[in-house]
Amino acid sequence: MPIFRTTQSNHKVEEVLDSFLSSPPAGTPSEVIEAFGRLVKTEGGVLPPSLFLEAVEQSPIAISITDLNADILYVNHAFEKLTGYTERELIGHNQSLLSYKVTPSEVYDDLWATLAQQRSWSGVLVNKRKDGERYLADLTVAPVQGADGETRYFLALHRDVTGVHDLERRLRNQKVLIESVVDAAPVVIALLNSDGKVLLDNHAYKKLMGDMRGKEPADRFLEKLFDVIEEDKKRSSSKRTGFVNREVELKFKHNLTSRWFSCSGVWVNKTYPGADFYFSGDKDCGLLLVANEITHQIKQQERIRMNAMRALMAEQQLGHAMRETLSGAIYQCQAPLNTASAVVAMMERRGDGEANPAVAALTEIIQSGEAVLSSLQEALPAESIEANIPINLNEVIKDVIDVSIQRLLEESVIVAWEPELDIPHVIGRHYALRSLFKQLLDNAVDALNEPQCRHREIAITTRSLDGQVEVVIRDNGPGIAHDKRLAVFEPFYSAWQNSKFRPGMGLTIALEIVHQHAGEMFIDPNYPGGCTIHVRLPINHASLSSEVS
Ligand code: FAD
Repeated sequence: MPIFRTTQSNHKVEEVLDSFLSSPPAGTPSEVIEAFGRLVKTEGGVLPPSLFLEAVEQSPIAISITDLNADILYVNHAFEKLTGYTERELIGHNQSLLSYKVTPSEVYDDLWATLAQQRSWSGVLVNKRKDGERYLADLTVAPVQGADGETRYFLALHRDVTGVHDLERRLRNQKVLIESVVDAAPVVIALLNSDGKVLLDNHAYKKLMGDMRGKEPADRFLEKLFDVIEEDKKRSSSKRTGFVNREVELKFKHNLTSRWFSCSGVWVNKTYPGADFYFSGDKDCGLLLVANEITHQIKQQERIRMNAMRALMAEQQLGHAMRETLSGAIYQCQAPLNTASAVVAMMERRGDGEANPAVAALTEIIQSGEAVLSSLQEALPAESIEANIPINLNEVIKDVIDVSIQRLLEESVIVAWEPELDIPHVIGRHYALRSLFKQLLDNAVDALNEPQCRHREIAITTRSLDGQVEVVIRDNGPGIAHDKRLAVFEPFYSAWQNSKFRPGMGLTIALEIVHQHAGEMFIDPNYPGGCTIHVRLPINHASLSSEVS
């Protein structure tokens, strides 16, 4: 018999609810406590028991009251609706009627052990309805004590949380899926909040962080992408476009290497969690950063560029060598021809020109000599035509060192390269300047191969002077004697002891290139330990700015 269906028993409802409300079990839905509370106490005192009953009956939560064996004494309408059983089919039966028999026995043991301590219990059980359909019951059971403090009944509240659980599981599965895809992606991925703090990252990101010895990669990326991000941030959040394929170089100080990444960013609007933001809809505009490592491609491009440059410089050197050799030959032919011409002129002045067969022979020699000279002149390879453009001398010198690396290694020469960062550009001809510094570096290596040389070190520095950029190349070779410091720039001057035949045009051509750039080149007179050559080139020299030579 249902205990609330008789008038005599109504005081039991009151008793049960009063006791329940005096210490509502943890997890009891607040709306239930509130509804019961409103009924128990009003300004006019205790409300009529019938109202209690009505409230319990109409509560949207399934409510039951059992005896100490969990045999059902009372159920409300929501209980009937949820389980599919009628009140008649439930009263007198144990709550185990609802069990689908898959809930682990430990759960029930815990439920009963908790109740035995007169504490309330909350948990999830797998129940089945009358029609056999399973559902997840979020159950709260509270012991109801009598005036003597002994437990008299159990009050149970339960609701179907299958939908919520399914949603949670789907969300969890989706999260796991997304996380595993993001983790497996071979690109660095990080979701940053508006303060640049990393909210989510992937395996590649963590690996990069390890390579950076624990430093946050996001900080370095944000630093490098600062301008593009700030520019995008100026737009309203709906009009922000993000950015695509921005190349970023990360320098690793501990092993002096660089790695390159192609970075893209997408703005992500993320709603704040928590009750405070339930209605406000305030959003945090985060940035999803994706960085694809392109170090391999960059290095490959660089290798191709260096090979092309090596080939070009080899061709230029060949041209130079041919020009030097032919100029040497022309110079050497010119001297006897000049002498012969002077003799012929002298003889003609004396009046025995025509009759003298020697004059005729000499004239013939001069004519064929001049023909040879003119063929030699014609055979001189032409200088390449090149436009003047803004040039960073640090890059030029780095290229020259890279191109020469094989020779430097083979000849065990150490190069101390100390560029001044951010030197201004000079206007000049790229290939010409490269061959200028290649010539000076080659000379420095040649100097180290001279007999007197002990240390094999070359120091190259750059710095900006007033309106000029200066490059200093210093070697520890035998140096150049004071009285030879101008002569070395003259054509066909060569004083190498250890090298094969060299026509001595290298410094002459180098000086010519410097002059073409309105610059100056000189040997430091105050350096005793070898040779120090200073090259100074003007920044933005007006006469060079648009000229093509
Ligand atoms: P049972 O043989 O009934 O019991 C399994 C274990 O539970 C036992 O080994 C023992 O440790 C413990 N146990 C059982 N009865 C008692 C007891 N009287 N005193 C101390 N320990 C005991 N179960 C559900 O599956 N779904 C429900 O919705 C549900 N609602 C409940 C509501 C209330 C108010 C209470 C008190 C219990 C509820 N139960 C519910 C638990 C239910 O009574 C059974 O214990 C459970 O269903 C297991 O039933 P069984 O037949 O498989 O095992």
